[in-house]
Amino acid sequence: MPTEQRMPSPHKKLPAAEGTDEQYTIAPQDNEDMAPLPEHAPLTEALLNWFRQNKRALPWRAAYVPYHVLVSEFMLQQTQMERAAVYFERWMQRFPTLASVAAADPDEVLKAWEGLGYYSRARNLHKTAKVIMHEHGGCVPDSLEALRALPGVGEYTAGAVRSIAFNRSAIAVDANVERVFARLFDVAVPVKSIVASGFIRRMARDLTPEGQARDFNEALMELGALVCGKKPRCEACPLSRFCQAHHLGITAERPVPGKKTNYSALEMVTGVLVQDGHIFIQKRLESGVWAGFWEFPGGRLEEDETPEQALVREFAEETEFRVRPTQYLGLVRHAYTRYKIAMHCFVCVLEDTVRVPSLDAAGFPEPKLQAATEYRWIEARDIDSFTLPAGHRKLVDAWFPGLL
Ligand code: SF4
Repeated sequence: MPTEQRMPSPHKKLPAAEGTDEQYTIAPQDNEDMAPLPEHAPLTEALLNWFRQNKRALPWRAAYVPYHVLVSEFMLQQTQMERAAVYFERWMQRFPTLASVAAADPDEVLKAWEGLGYYSRARNLHKTAKVIMHEHGGCVPDSLEALRALPGVGEYTAGAVRSIAFNRSAIAVDANVERVFARLFDVAVPVKSIVASGFIRRMARDLTPEGQARDFNEALMELGALVCGKKPRCEACPLSRFCQAHHLGITAERPVPGKKTNYSALEMVTGVLVQDGHIFIQKRLESGVWAGFWEFPGGRLEEDETPEQALVREFAEETEFRVRPTQYLGLVRHAYTRYKIAMHCFVCVLEDTVRVPSLDAAGFPEPKLQAATEYRWIEARDIDSFTLPAGHRKLVDAWFPGLL
C-alpha cells in the first residue's frame, strides 16, 4: 500500500534511553517493530478465511433473498444482531413478501415493530415496500442510485443491500467497520471526522476483493461484532499481524472518541384512567414523536408542578376530562433519542362524571381530543393489540399483571 494512503498516525512515546532522561517521540512508520502496512491480498484472505469458519447462522443469510436482506438492514440500524434476528423471524411470519408489507395497514407495521424502537425505520420500510412495488415491479433494486432513492435508505444501507443481497461491489461502513479500521490503520482522529470518514471509505473500497463484496463486508462487520469489539480480543483476531494499534499497544485508545451525546433529563407523568372496568387510551397525532401510537394521556411536568398536578392538567388539556389520581404505580425510566425520561405512572378516575360533556355510543365518557386522532375504552387485557411508545409499554409490562 503506498505510503500516502496512511492516516497521519499519532506519534509514539518510547521509553527513555538507558542512562538518559531523553524521550524519543517517533512516528509509527519509523518504528522497526511495527508491522508493515498490510498488503491487500493477505489481509483480505485472512479475514475471509476467518469468516468462513466463524460466520453466524442468521435467518437472512440462509438464501440472501433481497427482501430479507432489506428488512434485516432496516432492523439492524440501532439494534443488536440477536434482537434483530428474533424480530426478523416474527416479521417474516407476518409479512412473508414485500407485497404483504406494502398492502399492510400502518398500525400492523408498527405493531410488528413494537419494542425495536426508532419507529421511523418501520414507517420508512413500509413506504419503501410501496415504492418498490410501484416503481420497481416488486423487486428490490440493485443499483446504489435506486437504493438511495428509497425512503429511509442512506449510504450505509444502500451499500449493505447492494453488496449483501446481490454480491455487487459496494462498501458498507457501519460502526463495527469504523472501529476495526480505526485500530487496523491507527486512525488518530475521531472516525466521524471528515478526514477519517473519507480515509476509511477509501480503504474499504481498496480492500474489497473483486466479486466478494458480500463476504468481505459481512466479514468486517462480524469481526467488529465478535472479536474487535469495545474490548478487542486480539489474541483471537485473524488480522492481528496487520493491525497497527495492536502492534503499538494502543488498542484501548482507538477509535479516538468523538463528541459525547448530551442527554437532557425530562420528568413526565401519565395516567391509566379507569371507568366501569375499562381503561382509556388515545391515538397520537400522525406527526411528531411516536406518531400514530396509542398511549395513556400525559406529558411533561411544568416548573413547580407535582406529578399529580401535572396529571390533572394534562388530562384536562388533552381530553377535557377532570381526573383524580387514586394510585401511584411507580416511575418508569427510559431513554429516547437525546432525552433521559423519568415518567411517573398513576391510576386515575374521573373526578366528576356530571361534568363530562357526553357519553359515546357505547355509553362511555366522550373526550374532546386535543392531541390525538381517536380514542378507545378497552379492557386492560386487550392492551397488547395496540402499539405503545416504549415508556407506556414498560408501564403495562410492569403493572398491568397486577391490575388485571
Ligand atoms: S488485532 Fe485487536 S485491535 Fe486489531 S483488528 Fe484485531 S481485535 Fe481489533
